[in-house]
Amino acid sequence: MSELSQKIAGFDLWHCALPVVSRRDHGIGSVEGTCEIVVLRLTAEGGAQGFGEASPWSVFTGTPEATYAALDRYLRPHVLGRNVGDAAAIMADAARAVAHCTEAKAALETALLDLQGRIMGAPVWSFLGGKARDTIALSVSIANPDFDADLDLMARIREDGVRLIKLKTGFAGHAFDIMRLERIVQDFPEFGLRVDFNQGLEPYGALARVQDIAGFAPDFIEQPVRAHHFGLMADIRAAIDVPLLADESVFGPEDMTRAVGDRICDGVSVKIMKSGGPTRGQSVARMAAAAGLSAYGGDMFEAGLAHLAGAHMIAATPEISLGCEFYQAKYYLAEDILEQPFPSHGGKVTVPDGPGLGIRPDISKLEHYAA
Ligand SMILES: [Mg+2]
Repeated sequence: MSELSQKIAGFDLWHCALPVVSRRDHGIGSVEGTCEIVVLRLTAEGGAQGFGEASPWSVFTGTPEATYAALDRYLRPHVLGRNVGDAAAIMADAARAVAHCTEAKAALETALLDLQGRIMGAPVWSFLGGKARDTIALSVSIANPDFDADLDLMARIREDGVRLIKLKTGFAGHAFDIMRLERIVQDFPEFGLRVDFNQGLEPYGALARVQDIAGFAPDFIEQPVRAHHFGLMADIRAAIDVPLLADESVFGPEDMTRAVGDRICDGVSVKIMKSGGPTRGQSVARMAAAAGLSAYGGDMFEAGLAHLAGAHMIAATPEISLGCEFYQAKYYLAEDILEQPFPSHGGKVTVPDGPGLGIRPDISKLEHYAA
């Protein structure tokens, strides 16, 4: 234990703008050109380093500027000089130091876990309860307004062994969604199909559109209406015979309590960027399971460092049983930030067993993409 009583002596940040290969439209907004992340490096007095990524999206969780400020100004004083092993106490102080800013807190907890793992020679999953699985089924999201480009992408990922896709709907009209679903069902029967509206439907007429989509019998339909429309989510859930997932409606355990009570969903998308770190993400998944609901490993527009944190969380959380969507590092970023490629092959993410997160970011890439 003495190794974990050493002090945290360094706290460094990079705000990076990472080029992406195409436009992607989601119900609540678009991403084009670059996606922006903030990377945190913690250094212990013995020299060990731990890394964490914050992956904000302004229309969903928050802005990179707020994330950077939360870490740099409001969380830094609660970290420097603390014992490496006091992660839970640091996270409790972080929760009180700044409201919201869940992406910043996710980066902080990830870096603390990575640092502990590097020092102890143990993988992050071992600090989250031990491993329940070695691989996680990978889903790739289909969200390009140029559907021909997505047809090419689907042919490519099918070759790669991917067998799950999530079609993003509700951004360009109902006919476009139905056309794409008909084409996918006809030309790509190998794929398990999920659908995600990202809150894209107006309340008026939402149910009829969701019922049309349910006719294609996807595995699940995710967040058709705005996050705060709990009553409408409950009505839609009661009216369709396809499982309804909550994403934007449920950030952390506090929202999960209300989601269960209001019966708004059959499952929940768990994201460390919403929950504020892996341990609170585990809480969301366990609360869902206790209420008889399923859990899915969602993500934001992330680089490989955040994917790694999510993969370790899912590895240690058997309740997150619907796979993951950690596809951006391989299929969306022009270049990822890790020293080695994020481990996804044959339609699966392989959970690293090395110390900490298992792979470090490449500092030269962080410098290169610094905004
Ligand atoms: Mg979603």
